[in-house]
Amino acid sequence: MKKKILVAGGAGFIGYHLCKKLLKQHIIYCVDNFCTGSINNVNELNKNKNFFFIKQNIQNNFFLKCDEIYNLACPASPNKYQKNPIDTIKTNIFGSINLLNIAKKNNAKIFQASTSEVYGDPNLHPQKEDYRGNVNIVGVRACYDEGKRLAESLFFDYKRSYNIKIKVARIFNTYGPYMNSDDGRVISNFIVAALNNKPLIINGDGNQTRCFCYIDDTVKGILKLMNSKNSISGPINIGSSNEKSIIYIAKKIIKMTNSKSDIILKNKLQDDPIKRKPSLLLAKRDLNWQQKTSLFKGLEKTIKYFSSA
Ligand code: NAD
Ligand code: UDP
Repeated sequence: MKKKILVAGGAGFIGYHLCKKLLKQHIIYCVDNFCTGSINNVNELNKNKNFFFIKQNIQNNFFLKCDEIYNLACPASPNKYQKNPIDTIKTNIFGSINLLNIAKKNNAKIFQASTSEVYGDPNLHPQKEDYRGNVNIVGVRACYDEGKRLAESLFFDYKRSYNIKIKVARIFNTYGPYMNSDDGRVISNFIVAALNNKPLIINGDGNQTRCFCYIDDTVKGILKLMNSKNSISGPINIGSSNEKSIIYIAKKIIKMTNSKSDIILKNKLQDDPIKRKPSLLLAKRDLNWQQKTSLFKGLEKTIKYFSSA
């Protein structure tokens, strides 16, 4: 059945890929204020007659008739969400309330793009969904981490209070084509620098770890969760379990691009998590989902995209 789906944050990196996939079957209303999203993404999606764009800050009250809602609206790169931290908090809180009220009025199912950042700088490894995290409440990342934590609370309070169907995914580091070249996250930064033979800057000694999931796999995980049975609300981790140090990633990208770039070590960022890896037991058990794309293949596709972008 063709559904009317509201995608908040659809002009961003994950939003673009999600809209593209959903458009194969459904009508999409993409709501975005271009805070980090790209007009090019919207122009490309606009080629499909079932795509409608509405410029709207989700912090402000609005209404749309729809059957389903995905909330991806929030800057995701640390340097972007820290630039205007109070705005980041407002997006997570007022934006979530506005979208939850739209879900309530429409009796629509609603998905929340939560994040591994709710675990902060974790002292449990890998991170399971019942781990309550180690967030510095007053630190520079708190606008995002605490904002996303409160958004999760709101989703579960709306479910308990109004019986709304909610789906909460905790997404771990995702990368791929259509990231903005100035996004600031590590994979795009390193690839763009390597392709230009400019230095790759590492914050700290490079021994911090992350697990990088290719965008197509993340989108499949999001869709599996959204279409799972009603008893599954999450939160469920979506990500790769292939843990790599940042220095390994830098060397790999230099090698894969045949770059002459150097690696420069700078100061560690405040509260930058030292290690991160999802437990994927719930994703496997409840969604029968796990990442399929190898890091090599995913990097190859992403390098190809940035080489021709
Ligand atoms: P992105 O920054 O590329 O996209 C976010 C989109 O939201 C942008 O188009 C931006 O303009 C829009 N937006 C931000 N604030 C808004 C507001 N107030 N009103 C309307 N639109 C607004 O980020 P992304 O990587 O595509 O991430 C999408 C979502 O997934 C985010 O909520 C992010 O927290 C979550 N997430 C992403 C990752 C990842 O690795 N990419 C990991 C964990 C969680
Ligand atoms: N990082 C880095 N150089 C960069 C960008 C990021 O060393 O140009 C590091 C960053 O400090 C963190 C890791 O790479 O330790 C992942 O950063 P990213 O911003 O991609 O995502 P995060 O996991 O911190 O949200």
